[in-house]
Amino acid sequence: QPLIELREVTKSYDSPEGRTTPLKEVSAVIPPESVIALMGPSGTGKSTLFRLLNRLEDPDHGSITYKGKPLSEWDPILLRREVHYVFQSAVLFPKTVADNLNYPLKLQGKSMSEEEMARLLERVGLSKSYLTRSIEKLSGGEKQRVHLARSLSLNPHVLLLDEPTASLDPESTERIEQEMRCYREKGHTVLWITHQPEQARRIADQVWHLESGHLRQEEMKR
Ligand code: ADP
Ligand code: ADP
Repeated sequence: QPLIELREVTKSYDSPEGRTTPLKEVSAVIPPESVIALMGPSGTGKSTLFRLLNRLEDPDHGSITYKGKPLSEWDPILLRREVHYVFQSAVLFPKTVADNLNYPLKLQGKSMSEEEMARLLERVGLSKSYLTRSIEKLSGGEKQRVHLARSLSLNPHVLLLDEPTASLDPESTERIEQEMRCYREKGHTVLWITHQPEQARRIADQVWHLESGHLRQEEMKR
């Protein structure tokens, strides 16, 4: 059974400049335990697709199912716990890294030990010493990794990543790619927006090219 299935999904926006239709009757299947690289020029609808998968918006036509159930029947809050959107611009609080990592679990009345937080940071290639550092003093790439670590703390079944390594050096990029391979091995699914064909080939089971509203799928051999 597919984990996620899109059937003839159409989404348009009206603006003073006219109507744009980033998704035109897009059909696709996302198998469980897969990494999908989502490619396409800026403004082609990659984040639109993510917003639909996360129910931040609904399609104009067509349907999307998650675990066999239409998204329209999912409680958005429950859905977003399972299908987690890691926005490109991280929304972090001007506090310490530890405060930020703790935040989502605190909302659920839980907490994390220092060891657990250190392990989370390690997964994104940051040392334990970052826990006490304040967010304002981190670089863009460091913030991006704290953001990803915070998302990982929720252990979502599906991760929607918007260029998670865009401002990272090659070594940190490799760390994140490795971590996402492990994540898939543990049974999770990752959709990953990237502009780098080499990265898509390294990480993905399938590469999706979005252009002019249409989706072209390229199967990777591994
Ligand atoms: P990408 O993520 O591939 O860069 P987006 O999904 O953000 O592209 O946008 C796809 C197209 O839809 C763009 O032309 C964008 O301007 C348009 N668009 C996205 N969101 C809205 C909106 N809320 N209102 C009007 N147009 C939008
Ligand atoms: P960008 O790719 O321009 O940096 P983000 O990664 O922050 O944008 O967000 C991805 C998309 O999700 C954008 O189109 C943005 O408008 C939308 N978005 C960001 N935050 C929210 C939110 N809290 N609720 C709904 N949509 C959001």
